[in-house]
Amino acid sequence: MDYGMIGKIEKAKRYAEERERICIRNFQATFDGENNPHTVEFDDGHWKCDCNFFITRGVCSHTMALERIMAGMLAVPIEIT
Ligand SMILES: [Zn+2]
Repeated sequence: MDYGMIGKIEKAKRYAEERERICIRNFQATFDGENNPHTVEFDDGHWKCDCNFFITRGVCSHTMALERIMAGMLAVPIEIT
C-alpha cells in the first residue's frame, strides 16, 4: 500500500471518531421491524416512516432508533420565522 493511502486511512479513522464533522441531510432506509419492514426517510430534519404509529404520532420506534444511531450527525430542521 502506498503512503498516500495509509495517510488517508489514518485520517478516516480519526474522522470516524469526530461525529460532529458530519451532517446527514437526507437518507432513506429500510428498517426490519418485528412484524414488517418499514421505509424510513429523513430530509433536512424531518422524519417520515410508513408504520401506523408514525402516522398518528409523528414519531416511532424506527425513527427514534435511527436518531440514536446517528446522534450528533443529523441536520436540524430549518425553522421559518
Ligand atoms: Zn415507524
